[in-house]
Order: sequence, then C-alpha cells, then structure tokens
Amino acid sequence: MTVTEVATTSTGAPPVDSDWADEVRELARRRDAVLLAHNYQLPAIQDIADHTGDSLALSRIAAESDASTIVFCGVHFMAETAKILAPDKTVLIPDAAAGCSLADSISADELRAWKAEHPGAVVVSYVNTTAAVKAETDVCCTSSNAVEVVESIPSDREVLFLPDQFLGAHVRRVTGRENMHVWAGECHVHAGINGSVLTAQVEANPGAELFVHPECGCATSALYLAGTGAVPEERVKILSTGGMLDAARTSSAKSVLVATEVGMLHQLRRAAPEIDFRAVNDRASCRFMKMITPEKLLRSLRDGTDEVHVDPELAARGRAAVQRMIEIGQPGGAE
Ligand code: SF4
Repeated sequence: MTVTEVATTSTGAPPVDSDWADEVRELARRRDAVLLAHNYQLPAIQDIADHTGDSLALSRIAAESDASTIVFCGVHFMAETAKILAPDKTVLIPDAAAGCSLADSISADELRAWKAEHPGAVVVSYVNTTAAVKAETDVCCTSSNAVEVVESIPSDREVLFLPDQFLGAHVRRVTGRENMHVWAGECHVHAGINGSVLTAQVEANPGAELFVHPECGCATSALYLAGTGAVPEERVKILSTGGMLDAARTSSAKSVLVATEVGMLHQLRRAAPEIDFRAVNDRASCRFMKMITPEKLLRSLRDGTDEVHVDPELAARGRAAVQRMIEIGQPGGAE
C-alpha cells in the first residue's frame, strides 16, 4: 500500500502525500529531531518515524539518540518517560492532551494514601503511569519482566502492584504470591477485548495461533481456554508488543489472532507479511493514540509544540524506579 492509501483508509483524514512526508523530514532535519512512533500510532505516523516500538524501547532510543529534540508520537506518559530518561533533551508530543485511561486510573495522591495503609510495602508500577506516580514508586516493570520484578522482592514484604488489574492478576497467578495487592485500574481498550469476544474468535478461526498482551482483559480467558483444551496451550502466547514482533518473525503459523490495540497489526504485517493477522476485537482502537495525526505532527515540528516538562526532582525519583526495572530480568518491551 502507498502512504496515501494507508492514511485515508485508516483515519478518514485528508490524504497524506509525499509533500507532507518531505515537509516532515525537512522540518525534523532543521530541528535536529528524531521521530519516535509507538506501535499503536496511525500507519502514516509509523511509516514516517525514524523508530517505531513500545514505550520502553522508544524511551531508551530517546536517551541514546544524538538528536537534541525528541518528537514522541504516543501518549503523554510515554513522552514523560522519555523526558525522565533524557532530561537534557527537548521532548515534544504533537498533542499534549493525548492521555491514557490506564495511567490516569491512579494519581500520586491516591498512591500516597495506599502506601500509608501498607507501611513498608514495596511499590511496583507498570510503566503506564505518570511521572508523579513513578516518583512514588520503588521499581517499575514492563509486561515482560513484571513476574521477575515481583519475585525479586523478599517474600515477607507486601507488594503494591499498579495500575493494571489484569497484568496484576497475571503476575499473582504466576508467582502464587498472596501478600500482593493489585490496584483496580484498567485500560478501556484492553478491557474491551474480553472472554466472550475471544471465545467467538477462537471458534471462528480454528487453527489460528493467539497472541495476547497481558494487559488485555482477555488474558485470563486465554489461559482458561488453553487449560480446557479449547485452544491448544502451545498456540497461546502471552507477549508484550515487542515480544509479538519477535514471535511473528519466527512463527510458522498461517494465521494469528491478535489481542491488543489494532495499531499493532500494521507492525506485525510488516514483520511477517505471509501470516494472516486478525484482531480479536477490530474495534479495540485507542482514541488517545489516534489523537496524534499527520497534521499535528507537522505543526509540532513547525512550532515546537507541545513541549513536555517534568519537575527535575520528580524526574530524578522516577528515573531511579525506571533504572531498577532495567536491571531486573529481561525488561524487553512495555505496552
Ligand atoms: S491503549 Fe490503553 S493503556 Fe494504551 S495508551 Fe491507550 S488507554 Fe493507555
């Protein structure tokens, strides 16, 4: 497909043509900017970016890049994480209003109150959190190393795990840990990929492999279906978005059902064009991610908007929690 076809079919927005692409590249060059796009971004944004990936991989690229400006096409907490890891660089997000229902499910005040109820507990936060919440966190985790992070904590210490209840349930099931409290947060997109949707898709696509992101509400259902034999266990893979791409490159499956945000299909199809990838729920689209449009990217590069600022003291505390995460196990990818 051409860039024009991708942009018009997926968004209904005005066509994105080669003039747009040329202008984006020229403005990025003049601004000494590197363009980063999350896997859930619109295809046109993914295609123009210097790097696509999950939030952690992109933040690491931001920190290591020689560019003085980072343009982060994703949601706000991701751009904040990039700023935490690259405090001396200018970090721009094309629309600062691009939030995240999961990150917004717990505030720093709520976390402080929760900590007060459990003195001495170790706070483990998934990376989908604001900088203010990261500053109250002992160690962050990704979906790839959440189990290892929790297992690294002495068994007699209570654990407060946040904000995602489905990832928390997955970790508690795997570790068997009873002194782990899980915050009841959820992502509206992943919660929509539920057991009944999954069961219907599995029945309609016999023979398909199943890639499940652990933040999905359906992760429990997928494991349950595997346990009953409805889906052979070896066909169910619980993977981060980065892990999905690795699995796609080595899979011999003819078709794969994908349980995560639909933007991920673009990268998967590029990684393994011979596989028929289908969304478990084709309405699982993150409206916040789709707030980053080609027009806003152009404006961001032209006007230097919207700049992301993180209080240096908060950033230092958040950075310590993120660095502890990187030291444990295989952090792999985040959302
Ligand atoms: S898909 Fe969910 S967790 Fe991801 S950015 Fe959107 S609201 Fe947040």
